[in-house]
Amino acid sequence: MTKQRWVVKIGSALLTNDGKGLDTTSIASWVEQIVTLTKQNIDVILVSSGAIAEGIKRLGWNDRPDDIHKLQAAAAVGQMGLIQTYESLFAKHDMHTAQILLTHDNLTNADRYENISSTLNNLLEFGTVPIVNENDTVATDEIKFGDNDTLAALVANLVNADRLVILTDQGGVYDDDPRQNADAKLIDKIHVDDEKLEQVAGRTGGSLGSGGMYTKVLAAKKASESNTITVIASGKAENVLTRLQAGEHVGTLIHC
Ligand code: GLU
Repeated sequence: MTKQRWVVKIGSALLTNDGKGLDTTSIASWVEQIVTLTKQNIDVILVSSGAIAEGIKRLGWNDRPDDIHKLQAAAAVGQMGLIQTYESLFAKHDMHTAQILLTHDNLTNADRYENISSTLNNLLEFGTVPIVNENDTVATDEIKFGDNDTLAALVANLVNADRLVILTDQGGVYDDDPRQNADAKLIDKIHVDDEKLEQVAGRTGGSLGSGGMYTKVLAAKKASESNTITVIASGKAENVLTRLQAGEHVGTLIHC
């Protein structure tokens, strides 16, 4: 049976308690699900944010600063806690994690692309779970716009992932902004080139903030370059990853 490859991206809003510190109970549940996936012939690369939020807590700050360099410093502090949390939770299941910090530039330089690809392939072969985050010390792309959505798509391209699963705090992509329109309906399935997709994503979730639905839809488009199917689903939905693995329909499926 050939192995599948999934890139699972978990954003800051989901990982944290009110933006401060990590929600270890939720993280433990995703870890358990990932362990189940790996036992069912699915290799998982986790793309995880949460470093800044954890750094803010560790540094004792009350609010998220606007200054980008303070955010970078917070990320450097918080990355330690993020990795510590994953390593100890996966260790309970006798699995090792590996920390990979990347920038977009790393993924557009041919030599480095090759190096990253070989490392990731080896890590998967060794049965570890690579945990990717942006290297916030050297780049600020994801702090400013994406909350790792774009990075996750680039990683999906890099490993030719079968699936990119973007876990978020919303149910998926809606046909209108669910916070403004109570009748907004969840889009179950849509083709990546369907014009409606970009239109609705532009309206829902705010394209200017870090993350939002727009960057997730752009990530799905990018991921489709490697024929990767994207699912955008709520990370709060119970057993979301294992249900997806069982073929259940959760969130919005963006096919290509
Ligand atoms: N790489 C950042 C992190 O891990 C991006 C997310 C953010 O802007 O909060 O926290």
